[in-house]
Amino acid sequence: MSCKQQLVILGATGSIGISTLDVIARNQSQFEVFALTAGANAKLMAQLCVTHQPKFAVMATTEAAEQLTQYLAGTNCNTIIRSGTEAMSEMSAHPDVDAVMSAIVGAAGLIPTLSAVAAGKKVLLANKESLVMSGQLFIDQVKQHKATLLPIDSEHNAIFQCLPSALQGSQGNAKIAQHGVSKILLTGSGGPFLTRDINTLPVVTVAEAVAHPNWSMGQKISVDSATMMNKGLEFIEAKWLFNCSAQDIEVVIHPQSIIHSMVQYQDGSVLAQMGNPDMRTPIAHALAYPQRIDAGVKPLDFSQIADFTFTKPDFTRYPNLALAIAACEAGQGATTTVNAANEIAVAAFLNGDIAFTDIYRVNAQTLEATTDVNVHTLDEILACDQLAREQAAQQIRKVQR
Ligand code: NAD
Ligand code: MG
Repeated sequence: MSCKQQLVILGATGSIGISTLDVIARNQSQFEVFALTAGANAKLMAQLCVTHQPKFAVMATTEAAEQLTQYLAGTNCNTIIRSGTEAMSEMSAHPDVDAVMSAIVGAAGLIPTLSAVAAGKKVLLANKESLVMSGQLFIDQVKQHKATLLPIDSEHNAIFQCLPSALQGSQGNAKIAQHGVSKILLTGSGGPFLTRDINTLPVVTVAEAVAHPNWSMGQKISVDSATMMNKGLEFIEAKWLFNCSAQDIEVVIHPQSIIHSMVQYQDGSVLAQMGNPDMRTPIAHALAYPQRIDAGVKPLDFSQIADFTFTKPDFTRYPNLALAIAACEAGQGATTTVNAANEIAVAAFLNGDIAFTDIYRVNAQTLEATTDVNVHTLDEILACDQLAREQAAQQIRKVQR
């Protein structure tokens, strides 16, 4: 048996998945890839299998798994190929596995991530949607199964690093105020449309919306950054990760993305975590925690930072942010609903079916139509998610008319 940490990467072919594999490749004496999973991109998965030689590779569908088998025929790769959510969940819970990187995009990440949690693994959480949609259930499972939950989202990873160690290890059990924390300051760049004439937002193109000024990311989160729904989802994520209320969290616009978030203490101290905007920093932090390893990230050069600025978010420009904060205050039914509606609305925008500003209309109208659902168990969560998707699809048809 090897003493290296055995890893599963859920969403290996994505932006976070590839960054994770880069950090692992730099630290091969400590980490080994046990399994990789992905949606449809069999060609890229084949390359990853040849390079990283995982024991297992899981694709979302049997078609994609068959493609992968063909790509790997005649190579030196002995990876066992499987397909489907159940196989992904099996990987997450496999007894030989130490840590699971949860980096599938959207609600599809929920089941395999919860499987890692239920198996008491070290869970590196990039897939914020799974926590937003299942909140209390997710955190209860973490506690019950003594899983270790480490945030990969750069803001939450920054907050985690700025918290006192007693809170870092508390897995959401301790109250932040009892450890001298007065506020969590969640920073966001404001995305590509921070200064754009607000009247032109209805006509922005997909290419403009996904062109984030500081971060290179998958398409969905890039659109979420442009609407600032991403910050809204992160607001809800922070509430669960750090066991605080909406009143404890403040969003601060910091266009340079050098500070990745901050923690304010009762004595007036503010601790910030800084670095170049590169997801390999939070990934390396969580992989090695509490140690530090090389992430391949360029060191910050303060002489090259011309501006370092902070403003309040403008909710007229970013109505999705206000909507998500309101949902956070309303409770689980609202957050599950807004997460599902947004996933459908963003897909419709990326597909050219609705305008950029319609994303908010679809989200708001879906939330209005479906708030009073009872959402506690996994079945209730999945039913609420499904209902919101149907409602959102209806709203999209109305908007298109
Ligand atoms: P991405 O689109 O680049 O990659 C998504 C991955 O999920 C791919 O491997 C894809 O094959 C897989 N996938 C998609 N649909 C699937 C399905 N139905 N079943 C199984 N696998 C599926 O996305 P990303 O930018 O890497 O983001 C991944 C997650 O990390 C998201 O939840 C995002 O919010 C979060 N996150 C990303 C960043 C970033 O910098 N990219 C930062 C913070 C948080
Ligand atoms: Mg983030």
